[in-house]
Amino acid sequence: MIIDKIKKLKEQRNAVILAHNYQIPEVQDIADHTGDSLELARKATQIDCDVIVFCGVRFMGETAHILSPEKTVLLPEPDAGCPLADMVDVEELREMKDNNPGATTICYVNSSAEVKAESDICCTSANAVKVVSSLNGSPIIFVPCRHLGGYVQKVTGKNLVLARGFCPTHHHISTDQILKLKNDMPDAKVLVHPECTTEVIDIADYVCSTSQMFKAIEESGARRFIVGTENGLLHPLRKRYPELEFFPPSEDCVCPNMKKITLEKVLISLETMEYKIQLDPDVRQRALGSLERMLLHV
Ligand code: SF4
Repeated sequence: MIIDKIKKLKEQRNAVILAHNYQIPEVQDIADHTGDSLELARKATQIDCDVIVFCGVRFMGETAHILSPEKTVLLPEPDAGCPLADMVDVEELREMKDNNPGATTICYVNSSAEVKAESDICCTSANAVKVVSSLNGSPIIFVPCRHLGGYVQKVTGKNLVLARGFCPTHHHISTDQILKLKNDMPDAKVLVHPECTTEVIDIADYVCSTSQMFKAIEESGARRFIVGTENGLLHPLRKRYPELEFFPPSEDCVCPNMKKITLEKVLISLETMEYKIQLDPDVRQRALGSLERMLLHV
């Protein structure tokens, strides 16, 4: 059976499987650790292993490699990218810096290693408010997610120079979808990810990263929840809280890239030791500085 083969090979390779909360249920269930970007980035530095099989998208595997270069980081599907991360490149970021001399540059972790290397500090959706709040004085450039940047701007009261990027999956969650569900279930609490649009964020009870949603659910005391993020999160939520009910705004809140990794691909990855994340050493070193500064704000 495929799961037994994965477990056996994992042991032989001294490997650990990390899976993002948006992965398909079977992949989340075989993982040693699941979580959001920040949790998985920290986990990559803490675990004792030779190989990390990263079930997520490319920038996440790159982040694990940057933070733990002594480990081999494998991405089971080489084409699992993040359209949001691809919405800003180094040239565009340099242009923004030229137009805003002296600015501090913050990149969301959903960005390429090259963009991280070009930035002063990185953040995730879990600590973006903390990171921005810690900065004084100079203008702040925030790339690539304009929705997360807009949300952080509102919470911190700081003026940010925003890029134009957005996550297609979260961008398509609409107020109509949420209000329709809310109309049928007025008692339901609305949880949304800060990659959603400002309009959606404005009608939410909680705006938080996927891992922070678990805490919000426990604190709320509610029984029903409308969950405005990628639908992969419904699996761990329903598993952890079988007595509660969770509703997606739409069955279409799906990130196709997050669904590219299957159990078969995890097994092949362990068998062939493909696809190794490799980065230019200079880029890796400069991106490390940006990530290490991020980890001071957890
Ligand atoms: Fe990128 Fe959005 Fe997919 Fe996350 S859900 S990997 S931000 S496209």
